[in-house]
Amino acid sequence: MGHTEHVVAVRAGEIGSMHSWELVTAVDGPGTRLTVFLAGCPLRCLYCHNPDTLKMKDGEPVRAEELVRRVRRYLPVFRATGGGLTVSGGEPLMQPAFLGRVLRGAKELGVHTAIDTSGFLGAHASEQLLDDVDLVLMDVKSGQPETYQRTTGRQLRPTLDFGRRLADRGTEIWVRFVLVPGLTDAPENVDAVADYVAGLATVTRVEVLPFHQMGRDKWERLGMTYELGDTPPAGPELVDRVRGQFRDRGLTVY
Ligand code: SF4
Repeated sequence: MGHTEHVVAVRAGEIGSMHSWELVTAVDGPGTRLTVFLAGCPLRCLYCHNPDTLKMKDGEPVRAEELVRRVRRYLPVFRATGGGLTVSGGEPLMQPAFLGRVLRGAKELGVHTAIDTSGFLGAHASEQLLDDVDLVLMDVKSGQPETYQRTTGRQLRPTLDFGRRLADRGTEIWVRFVLVPGLTDAPENVDAVADYVAGLATVTRVEVLPFHQMGRDKWERLGMTYELGDTPPAGPELVDRVRGQFRDRGLTVY
């Protein structure tokens, strides 16, 4: 394929940039999931576990139809476990046309679909795309705008707007909150996340993910400065307190 043809195919969403894929159970949605990691993300979270997925140009080109063929291969697994496809990243909404095609293909096969997103690019998601999404795994990385900015390098507002839009249209949401000592753990910050989430009628689960140093080596290998080198892991008492802040609002917390 020539360069111009390639560019046209990328614009049309026929070709996307993928980092990798894996088959996982008990994470990224119900049942056994085919989780596809797309390349490219507009955020720069200080704790990012996948810093090698941040640039779209570092991914491998893949055709939407090829991914849908892979989804088809796992149909028996999805049926047996109540699983499906999860598109993660990076940020899947960096490539909305490609994402839309893959989701459409999966829905045509009758497969449960999820996207794993920060919500920052929620405005890129058309209603048509969201019609093909059964579940949104939405990272709410902070409840206070300044902490969000410090944690991700971006603004909080688009995520809040996206979550409200999802709730208004009846799309199921699982919220994820990464608990980082000294960064996102202030009681007021957690209260702000919990108040917001409690106002979204379609949230069925909240996952509090305790920070650990597992991403560190990747940052170092990539020659990137890792600012959380001295941050301790989130201990059990802190995790209990934060889970309690969500439970106090009647939310189901894991
Ligand atoms: S949104 Fe996810 S992929 Fe993007 S920087 Fe943050 S943790 Fe990394």
